Amino acid sequence: MPKISVIIPCYNEEAVLPQLFQRLSAVAATWAMDYEIVCVDDGSRDRTWEMLKLQNGKDSRWRCLSFARNFGHQVAVSAGLYHAAGDAVVIIDADLQDPPEEIARLLAQWREGFEVVFATRKQRKDPLLKRMLAWGFYRLLQKMTPLPMARDAGDFCLLDKKVVAVMNALPERSRYLRGLRTWCGFRQTSVEFDRAERAAGVPQYTFQKSFKLAMDGLFSFSAAPLRLATYFGLWASGFAFFGVLFTLLQKIFAGQFAKIGLAPGAGFPTIVISVLFLGGVQLICLGILGEYIGRIYNEVKGRPLWVLRESVGLGAPDSFIRGKPESGSAAAKIAEEG
Ligand code: UDP
Ligand code: MG
Repeated sequence: MPKISVIIPCYNEEAVLPQLFQRLSAVAATWAMDYEIVCVDDGSRDRTWEMLKLQNGKDSRWRCLSFARNFGHQVAVSAGLYHAAGDAVVIIDADLQDPPEEIARLLAQWREGFEVVFATRKQRKDPLLKRMLAWGFYRLLQKMTPLPMARDAGDFCLLDKKVVAVMNALPERSRYLRGLRTWCGFRQTSVEFDRAERAAGVPQYTFQKSFKLAMDGLFSFSAAPLRLATYFGLWASGFAFFGVLFTLLQKIFAGQFAKIGLAPGAGFPTIVISVLFLGGVQLICLGILGEYIGRIYNEVKGRPLWVLRESVGLGAPDSFIRGKPESGSAAAKIAEEG
């Protein structure tokens, strides 16, 4: 019987945990599947960890880990992915904004053969400013990255164990999981849902944390910002070039220009032109440096060149990603099982 894992990152969530335990257990009973729930306490300072341990005492399917300090939501989910043993892995927030009842719909799509099923928010009940910023961010990210990033999709999703193995094998440290999930490929689909209000407690994502997440998303999946210097440089040099042309014409046809009130001024144009020109050259040089840094960054991220879905006539693929997986890694484990 296939097993399903549910990963829940928890940071200072004591107020919502009783509801979570009750609602998720009730929903899980309807799946008629073997399941485990992996709660990751992200260094909470309240009673979250005590409550999780109590829950594990009551029901051993609730497995819990506790971080030594607050490492952040994306890292907490990454740890959950590393420890999850299910054939399908669901990621869900602790605050019940993603309704556990919707997991059944994710599972239905998974049974249809989709390896990645993510939930997109039809409407969200967050403060107006947050909604506006999120709206702008998703659209900007979509413009800037070549990957087919979904709009308005959060971390609430279901991943097949193959995808989890690939995600676990990605070595990069700035983890924007929605991007990595898209990068993995496989058959992806989405399910729409209404995002509820937080059931209890206060948001743990401060503006600063959300901003860092957005930056990770933009800079880990787009090289466009690095090219900005080049574009600015080209614009500045372009202006300088037209400045030179204009000044020359002004000198040659001084009489005509004087008639329309544009008589040549002494010294001023040459200064502006040389500032623009030098500025342009400097920016273009910065852009060139940026191109090299971008390539270094790409190499350092160490993402595999490709990810296999399956192969025929070549024996069992020794890994879903290029190169041999580290022995003992989740990818190696799945590869051994064929
Ligand atoms: N969270 C976490 N570590 C953090 C911040 C948040 O593990 O440093 C968890 C939190 O417990 C919740 C999820 O991430 O389960 C989403 O956080 P929150 O509800 O505060 O974010 P929002 O829904 O407001 O974006
Ligand atoms: Mg929330």
